[in-house]
Amino acid sequence: MPKKEFDLIVIGGGAIGLSTAYHAGKRGLRTLVLEQYGVLNNNGSSAGESRQFRLQYAQRYMAELSIASVEYWAELQGYSQKSLVRQNGSLWFGDPALNSQEGGIDAAEKVMDDLHIPYTKLDAAGIEANFPFKGLPKDYSGFFQGSGGIIDLKATEEAAFDAALASGNVDIHEYEPAGDIRSNNSGGVIVDTDRGSYSAAKLAICTGPYVNDTLKPLNLSLGIDIWQMSSAYFAKSDPGVMLPTWFVFQDPSDSALFYGFPEVDWAHPGYIRVATDFPDKILSDPSQRTFVPSPKSLALDAQWVGDHMMGLDSTPRFTSTCLIALAQNSNRELLLDYTPAWGTPNENIVTYTAGWAGKYVPILGDMIVRMLLEPSTALQYGNYEIPLRHFAIDWTNAS
Ligand SMILES: Cc1cc2nc3c(=O)[nH]c(=O)nc-3n(C[C@H](O)[C@H](O)[C@H](O)COP(=O)(O)OP(=O)(O)OC[C@H]3O[C@@H](n4cnc5c(N)ncnc54)[C@H](O)[C@@H]3O)c2cc1C
Repeated sequence: MPKKEFDLIVIGGGAIGLSTAYHAGKRGLRTLVLEQYGVLNNNGSSAGESRQFRLQYAQRYMAELSIASVEYWAELQGYSQKSLVRQNGSLWFGDPALNSQEGGIDAAEKVMDDLHIPYTKLDAAGIEANFPFKGLPKDYSGFFQGSGGIIDLKATEEAAFDAALASGNVDIHEYEPAGDIRSNNSGGVIVDTDRGSYSAAKLAICTGPYVNDTLKPLNLSLGIDIWQMSSAYFAKSDPGVMLPTWFVFQDPSDSALFYGFPEVDWAHPGYIRVATDFPDKILSDPSQRTFVPSPKSLALDAQWVGDHMMGLDSTPRFTSTCLIALAQNSNRELLLDYTPAWGTPNENIVTYTAGWAGKYVPILGDMIVRMLLEPSTALQYGNYEIPLRHFAIDWTNAS
């Protein structure tokens, strides 16, 4: 007979759900993960192979969270033979006063100064002298921060999956979507699937862009925009070309935000990934997704590569799409909160969704479990107190 009683049910076996299961299992919580597809699927926000890690943020608490995450990355690394984060550094350049949903150069420099994060300031000539970029406007400037790098996302998910199973406390049910969520009348929850009903004292909802579907049984919804985004890989024409992770801040009204990665052995060796940092389209529901990259995004990528990058052929060779949920409330980078249910605030249910959270995979699982075990308004990580109000969700009634 499959087990039906757990301490914690995690809905969603993406990167964050698996990390949550690991941290719960490690603490001895009997945990069930329900994943509607297979783990490591490419249907949600954890599609594709690589993500950027960076310390710099325009908000001090986000930079503090990045610093705090470093030891959680080291812990998760213990479950993988592969390098989860390769520290190639992070280069930001462009218009220093510009702010995008990624932050901005001036604002991030101020936070790095406050937190004593080392970085090197560069003007356009310095960027072109040190990195394979060309034809940059003379008034561009930026910085290089050496702790940034590239995350092997699939290896990270694998590590979290293995770590969760290694705890001996975690069951992972793939191809089993959560349906109804009901009260078990003793403060906990019952989650129904087409294979049975599971009961637990605590619930973590980690369903990424699918979150509003998951929340329907609780009669709740939250404000996210779901961006369908494209990226492309370009062949190296000069084998010597070496890049850090990078981001260029340009006028977003010109669809001119781009970011890119170094070459890595785990994703199309010999090719370099460059992506547009704006949506191909904004969806209200993941079901509207197509897996076809936008020709416009690919053309803009190719034009940027041709005009401003050295040692790359400007024809996109491999392409992919991904869905990211972003908070409609522009003051929120991530959405992470206790979840009202059945008419009352409920400290036994935590919902996480939204934001650029690849860099926080190992620590976010810990945050979710700590919120459930020790309900609080802030989480202490070393010297840093991370107030949870920064991630508060503006709940609305779904009906
Ligand atoms: C193009 C792109 C670039 C990005 N770049 C960066 C970056 O450089 N740096 C960075 O830090 N972050 C980046 N991110 C963000 C990062 O990838 C995400 O924050 C992270 O992958 C989120 O993982 P998740 O587990 O929350 O969501 P998901 O991976 O979407 O996982 C949610 C899971 O829930 C499952 N699910 C949904 N509904 C149900 C249900 N009812 N029952 C059971 N299972 C269900 C889904 O199948 C899915 O597997 C990027 C994202 C995208 C799309």
